[in-house]
Amino acid sequence: MTTTPKSLVILGAGTAGTIVANKLTKLLGADEWSITMVDKDDIHDYQPGYLFIPFDINSPGQIRKTKRPYLPDDINLVMGEIDRVDAEAQKVYLEGGRELDYDYLVIATGTTPRPDQTEGTLGPEFHKSVGEFYTFEGAVALREQAKAWKGGRLVVHITEMPIKCPVAPLEFTFLADAWLRENGLREATELVFVTPLDGAFTKPIASRELGDALSRRGVTVETDFMIEHIDQEKKVIVSFDEREIAYDQLVTIPLNMGADYVGRSGLGDELNYVPVDKHTMQSTAYPNIFALGDAGNLPTSKAGSVAHFSVEIFVENFMELIAGKPMTHSFDGHANCFIESGNRKGMLLDFNYDTEPMTGTFPLPKVGPMTLLKESYANHLGKLAFRHIYWNVLLPGRPLGLPAEMKMTGKNPE
Ligand SMILES: Cc1cc2nc3c(=O)[nH]c(=O)nc-3n(C[C@H](O)[C@H](O)[C@H](O)COP(=O)(O)OP(=O)(O)OC[C@H]3O[C@@H](n4cnc5c(N)ncnc54)[C@H](O)[C@@H]3O)c2cc1C
Repeated sequence: MTTTPKSLVILGAGTAGTIVANKLTKLLGADEWSITMVDKDDIHDYQPGYLFIPFDINSPGQIRKTKRPYLPDDINLVMGEIDRVDAEAQKVYLEGGRELDYDYLVIATGTTPRPDQTEGTLGPEFHKSVGEFYTFEGAVALREQAKAWKGGRLVVHITEMPIKCPVAPLEFTFLADAWLRENGLREATELVFVTPLDGAFTKPIASRELGDALSRRGVTVETDFMIEHIDQEKKVIVSFDEREIAYDQLVTIPLNMGADYVGRSGLGDELNYVPVDKHTMQSTAYPNIFALGDAGNLPTSKAGSVAHFSVEIFVENFMELIAGKPMTHSFDGHANCFIESGNRKGMLLDFNYDTEPMTGTFPLPKVGPMTLLKESYANHLGKLAFRHIYWNVLLPGRPLGLPAEMKMTGKNPE
């Protein structure tokens, strides 16, 4: 007797979608399961590399590949823009009318910078004096702006949290400082970091250490700045409380939002993130829907490391769920983020829902070799090595040797 295979649909073939597809195809029998992935295009960018393009540390070709070679052969890959999910009917509708039925749905469509959400961003100076490095095109355009830079006010600005890789704007500032010094332009440049937060970062110890790193470099920090609009003619950003900050070159991190179809489908919060249980990534509204990676509303960093660790937990739970057992694995919010700080050095953050980033060594006590929240060459090497690890170990779903749960070993609690 033949039975109809169960169907798993994965929306988004980026970091989280690719890892989960590679892991699950090894575990789910091809006769019993059909796995379908949907993505709007066949481009896979190593997004951490966007940071390096403006400074010519990575070339565009090093960070952009096609998706198909990184996906398992026996999945159905559908190229198309997702229009909406009908969670009651267990159907996904694509633009152009195609429909997909599912038994289980994984939403992994990430988060996207939305310059359209702040008035004045998308004017004639967008990708010129109003730059950004959260897209491939933005990073490449900023490289051209850098080539022409002769000095002035360089303003790095965060619109609102959460953003993916919340340390990336700080990294950009550190790298800009180092690049300006190397090119003899630091004296001629006023470097300003503008944030809606009350300090350099979200958590107290990290905020102190990173704030110190900014002041050592002579960076002016403007806190509590909630942007209202950009005036491209006057070259100022204006806040809701009518503060104005002038720039010659602005590098803005636009508001980040989950995909619009999530909102249209009634599955998202006000920023189109899917509300999920923070330990299982299961939708709080529909038990057969999970949101992985940046698409969910987990109260931890939106980062590739979080996508990776949480997918490991999800896969173990999913195998229990489809066997009719309770899900026994719990994601702790583990994030592990390198912060490139210029001059061939970097810092490292390792934290979870309950433990804020601390100083210490990683992964081993005393010997490291990485240093937590302190600059070191080992961290810089770790950051550079990660591009290779991403394509060759992480995306194919091979074991990385790092536990999904955060460990206290080597950390110095204050
Ligand atoms: C500048 C920068 C630096 C970063 N640095 C780091 C770092 O150092 N360390 C780290 O851990 N993380 C870093 N990140 C974050 C990391 O890249 C993301 O957190 C990670 O890629 C999230 O994976 P995801 O699968 O959730 O989303 P993504 O990888 O973004 O994938 C989402 C996929 O969904 C598809 N999609 C979206 N909407 C639709 C739709 N409507 N229809 C069809 N398909 C759709 C997209 O095409 C895409 O393929 C950085 C990000 C940026 C921008």
